[in-house]
Amino acid sequence: MWGRPAHARHASTGPLYVKIVLDLNVYSGEKASVFSGVKASVEALVLTHGSQLLASPLLPSGLIKHVVVLAERHNRPFIASINVINFCNLKCAGCYWSKIERRQQRDEMTVPQGDQLINELWTRGVRQFLFLGGEPMMRREELSHWVQTVADLGGISTIITNATYGLPAFGEWKQAHYMVSCDGDKEGMRKIRGLDTFHDNAPVFDLVKDATYGRTDVVLAMTISNANVERIEPFVRETRTWGIGGIVFSFATPNVGEEQSFYLSDERKEDAVKELLRLKAETGDFIVMSQRAIELLRPAEVAQWHTKCPTYAAVSIRADGKPLERCIFGPEGDCTRCGCNVSTSFVALREGNKETARMVLLPARRAGIA
Ligand code: SF4
Ligand code: SF4
Repeated sequence: MWGRPAHARHASTGPLYVKIVLDLNVYSGEKASVFSGVKASVEALVLTHGSQLLASPLLPSGLIKHVVVLAERHNRPFIASINVINFCNLKCAGCYWSKIERRQQRDEMTVPQGDQLINELWTRGVRQFLFLGGEPMMRREELSHWVQTVADLGGISTIITNATYGLPAFGEWKQAHYMVSCDGDKEGMRKIRGLDTFHDNAPVFDLVKDATYGRTDVVLAMTISNANVERIEPFVRETRTWGIGGIVFSFATPNVGEEQSFYLSDERKEDAVKELLRLKAETGDFIVMSQRAIELLRPAEVAQWHTKCPTYAAVSIRADGKPLERCIFGPEGDCTRCGCNVSTSFVALREGNKETARMVLLPARRAGIA
């Protein structure tokens, strides 16, 4: 999820909380004119510190909703996804980056260009930076510099990687944690990711296990499709023994008009959501998603929220530094069949869901950086 600056860790929540309560009073009552100046400054505070506010266990449901609605009204993002490279060593089935970017000739940002982008996004309110690709660890030197730039600002970096190039040692990159794509147990991974031809044809599953075993700064991400839907429970049972920071799930999202059997039918997706909810009830916070964020992946729920998808909350940037239209799936993604767990988390926050707010910083806490 996303994080708060380390320098604000201990000091900010109490005073901000008091000020926001005051802000709500302003909204609700006759004292509005007296407090209009206070309201403006409180709004600025909320917009600047929205991420850390959401993560506060003290924040009641009404205020969670308020922070998110205020950010939406001001078009203020919480997170940014930045493609740091336009190349990947793997060819995974269903990869949305491959669909929209792999065949595009694109310059990649230089280190100063990346620094400038990070600073601009910080000014707009972004406090968590997701670095991805293609495979971002193929630009390890530049990426390590940008992670330090984010840390110097007081933000958090999330590296989204396939882990075939290994990971920096625990704590080596400041204020950083890792999200590793892992589409099931060995059998699921064989079908989706296969062998890594760049690393002696090693099974990708083995490379992922080697890189992530015992790492509490790692969350594994499984994207569910027809190719691996049978492997959900085996994936949970296997990875629960690894000593990692947890796992998250999403559904493969097709482009408009894509009808391949790779994508789950509504009925099969509904069954998969029920399975996820059962496993969530059994394993608790090992699945680093709230119950509500899982429920919102149901086709009937997607039908309700997709027209009001909170795309403002996450800025997506191509490898050349230009914005990607709308969301990480690009302009062709089929909103009616969206399987994005980041969007369902923001929708749940907009509903004021406290468990989702608790999940905001959990991966960073398990990485020891929040
Ligand atoms: S590792 Fe990621 S970016 Fe590369 S092909 Fe697989 S899903 Fe796509
Ligand atoms: S495809 Fe993109 S814009 Fe559409 S609902 Fe999903 S995340 Fe939102």
